[in-house]
Amino acid sequence: MSQRELIFVLAHAQLCTACRERLLASPQDALVGRWLTADEKSLVVGLKDTDFYTPERLAEATGVSVSQISESSNHPVVRLRHL
Ligand SMILES: [Zn+2]
Repeated sequence: MSQRELIFVLAHAQLCTACRERLLASPQDALVGRWLTADEKSLVVGLKDTDFYTPERLAEATGVSVSQISESSNHPVVRLRHL
């Protein structure tokens, strides 16, 4: 279920400006300890600030659906666990 971890990382980065900036500035460091596959990691590492402008753009850039990201946004782990 590592797709879940990817969605959590994306949903949190969209909610939390500090983590988003950290992820964009230093993605390898921000992803330490996250259970992402190599493909998921390179996907996240390749994201740009513009990909976070709207949920639609993030979905388009990652292949994760808008509803998967928005449903996860209410999960306590997504809200509280910083990158
Ligand atoms: Zn955060």
